[in-house]
Amino acid sequence: MPNMNDNSEEKPFFNDWLYAESRSQNRISRQALQFYQTNYGFKQPLNVMCSSRFLQKWRSAGEIEQRLSSVLAEKAVIWASNCIVQELGGGGYDGLKVYSCDHQSSMSGKSCISQIAKQQSSKLVFATDNLYFSKKLLKLAGVPVLLLKNTVLMLMKPSRAQRQFAKAEAEAQKAEAEEFAKQRKRKAGKAEAEEFGKQRKRKAGKAEAEEFAKQRKRKSH
Ligand SMILES: [Zn+2]
Repeated sequence: MPNMNDNSEEKPFFNDWLYAESRSQNRISRQALQFYQTNYGFKQPLNVMCSSRFLQKWRSAGEIEQRLSSVLAEKAVIWASNCIVQELGGGGYDGLKVYSCDHQSSMSGKSCISQIAKQQSSKLVFATDNLYFSKKLLKLAGVPVLLLKNTVLMLMKPSRAQRQFAKAEAEAQKAEAEEFAKQRKRKAGKAEAEEFGKQRKRKAGKAEAEEFAKQRKRKSH
């Protein structure tokens, strides 16, 4: 009879992968993250939406969190959508948060992820083990992609399209801010001119009153 406490059959994943990434690889991942933090306001903890195949490579969400804190030096929350949980067989996955994607009949995990990724406001990081799919996601503006390539976990560099999009957005925002500043200046200038006009009027009124008083004084003598 096998010994139930014998762990030798446990999946060897995490321990084997602990130092799979090199320092320079992590530096690239962190630089990539910085791009999304600066341009799209991604904050700690990162919300990571995982594909079913990605999840199947780990024993628990906690394991992914731990690994991510080593790669990105950031806290993370691990998510899967309803469709992905369905794809996983509907069973519980330790520590996983379930994202309600509101897809009526469950669709494939990939289509579900693609749809969620197109909503720019989602502020999610997407995790996959599929290079082709990761490149597809990287075409969308402001979408960070975590790739598990063999045993290496990395945040992919923002694509050229993403960098161009971020640049165009930043320029548009700058132009808007400048226009706003100009308008404020114009308004302030107008208000100042009006105030000056009022003061002149008040002074003129006062001078007139004094002149009138003087004349009355002279007449009464
Ligand atoms: Zn879905």
